[in-house]
Amino acid sequence: TMAHSKALLVLENFIAGEFVPCSSYIDCYNPSTGDVYCRVPDSGKEEVEAAVRAAKDAFPIWSSKTPLERSRILNKLADLIEHDLEAFAQAESKDQGKTITFARTVDIPRAVHNFRFFASSILHHTTECTEMASVGCVHYTSRAPVGVAGLISPWNLPLYLLTWKIAPAIACGNTIVAKPSEMTSVTAWMMCKLLEKAGMPRGVVNVVFGTGAKAGEALVCHPDVPLISFTGSTITAQRITEKSAPHCKKLSLELGGKNPAIVFDDADLSQCIPTTLRSSFANQGEICLCTSRIFVQRGIYSEFVKRFVAETKKWKVGNPSNPTVDMGALISKEHLEKVRNYVKKAQAEGARILCGEGVDSLDLPAGNQKGYFMLPTVIAEVKDESCCMQEEIFGPVTCVVAFDTEEEVVERANGVKYGLAATVWSSNVGRVHRVAQRLQSGLVWTNCWLVRDLNLPFGGMKASGIGREGAKDSYEFFTEVKTITIKH
Ligand code: NAD
Repeated sequence: TMAHSKALLVLENFIAGEFVPCSSYIDCYNPSTGDVYCRVPDSGKEEVEAAVRAAKDAFPIWSSKTPLERSRILNKLADLIEHDLEAFAQAESKDQGKTITFARTVDIPRAVHNFRFFASSILHHTTECTEMASVGCVHYTSRAPVGVAGLISPWNLPLYLLTWKIAPAIACGNTIVAKPSEMTSVTAWMMCKLLEKAGMPRGVVNVVFGTGAKAGEALVCHPDVPLISFTGSTITAQRITEKSAPHCKKLSLELGGKNPAIVFDDADLSQCIPTTLRSSFANQGEICLCTSRIFVQRGIYSEFVKRFVAETKKWKVGNPSNPTVDMGALISKEHLEKVRNYVKKAQAEGARILCGEGVDSLDLPAGNQKGYFMLPTVIAEVKDESCCMQEEIFGPVTCVVAFDTEEEVVERANGVKYGLAATVWSSNVGRVHRVAQRLQSGLVWTNCWLVRDLNLPFGGMKASGIGREGAKDSYEFFTEVKTITIKH
C-alpha cells in the first residue's frame, strides 16, 4: 500500500537536549486516510528514568535563573513556533484529523500565546506579607519551583494543551518531563527541534513518547517527580491518583465534561444558534468544553430545533486539509466506533436522530474513504437518564431537550457527574447571574462560548477535575509556598 511504500516519519525522544532513538515503536495513523504515516517511540521505564535524571540535573541551574531570564527564552520559543506556524498547523491537522483552519486559527496560535502569556505573567507575581506589631513580627511568603514536573496531555488539542502546561511549569523554574498522547505526538517533537535555538538549557524540557500504560505510568510512579499535571479522561485520572498516592504527589487534573447549554426563550437566537453549533461540533466535538446537552425553553423549542438542524446540515465534513471544510476526521477508528455506538444506543432507547449519523449520507473525497469521519449529529426526545445525556461522548453528537422553568433546568443541568463548562443564553441580566451562580460548573459562559482570559482560573468541579490552571493558579501549582516569620 501507499503507506508502506512511502517513508514513514519516525519520531525520537528528546532527552537532555538530544534526540534519542527508542528500541521499539508504535504505529501512528493519519485519521483522514486511515494510513499509518508515523512511528512513535514506545517508551517505558528506562526512557522515563533517563528523562527524569536529565531534568533533575538541569534543575539547579534553571531554577536559579531570574524570572526575566526565563521569560526571554519563553518569548524566543514563542517567536520560533510562530515563525513555523503553517508547518505546525499542517502537522497538527494531519496527525489529529482536525481541519487545517482550526489548527491555523486555534491550536498553534494558542500554543504560541501560552509561551508569551506565561513569559509575561511570571514577571508580575507578588507574594504576601503581614505584620504582627504586638509581638514584633512580620510574616511573608516565598515561592520556589518544586522540581521535576511530569506533564501528561491528551490527543484533542495536542500542542495547545501541552504548552499550556510546559509554559507555566518552566516559567516558574521547574524542569519537565512531558508525555504527549501516543496518538498525537508530532507537534511536540517539532517543538523540541526549536528549543536549542530558543536558548533553552539542555535538560529543562524533556519529552518521552509512548503509551499511557507504559510511559505515562512510569512517569506517574517515578519517586523524583513530585508533581503531575494531567489533562485527559476521568478514568485515567483515577488511575493516576491511585498510582501517585504512595508518593503524596501534587496533582492537577483537567478532565472530561458533559456540558450543558441553557437557552431561555428571551435568547438572541441569531447569536445563540451559530455559537451553539460551534460549541457542539468544533474540532469534531473533541473539545472538553464542547456542548452536548442543549436545554431549550419550551416556547422556542420547535423554532430552535428547526433552525439548529438546518444549520447543522450545512456543515461540510471532509478532507481536513481543505480550508473550506468545517469538520475533519475523528481521532481513531475505535473512537469513531464508540461515538457511533452512542447514536445507536439513543435510537434503541426511542430517541429521534434529527440529522447526521444513520440519517443523512456522508460523501467523502476518493482519498478519504477510509478516514474516520461522521456527520454532525443532533438527537432529540432523549431522556435525561440516557447514557447520551450522562456520559461524555467526545464527538460530534449533541442532544436537544425542552424545559419549562429556571428552577427545573438548573437541577437537570447539574444532574450529571461532570462539572466543567456551561453556556447560558438569555437577555435577562438577573437571570443570567442567578443561573451562573447555581450551576455546578468551573466555567460558565453567558451569550458566548470559549472566550478565555488566561489570567483567570480554568478547570472543572465534580468528576471534571481537581485544581485550576491560569496565571495565578498555575503559578501556585508549579511552586511550593513557604511562610517565613521574622522577629525584630
Ligand atoms: P486519556 O485519559 O485516555 O489520555 C490522556 C493522556 O494520559 C495520554 O497522554 C495518555 O497516554 C495518558 N495515559 C493514559 N493512561 C495513563 C496511565 N495509566 N498513566 C499515565 N498516563 C496515562 O484521554 P484522551 O482520550 O487522550 O483525551 C480525551 C479526554 O481528555 C476527554 O475525556 C476530554 O474531556 C479530556 N480533556 C479534558 C480537558 C480539560 O482541560 N478539562 C481538555 C482536553 C481534554
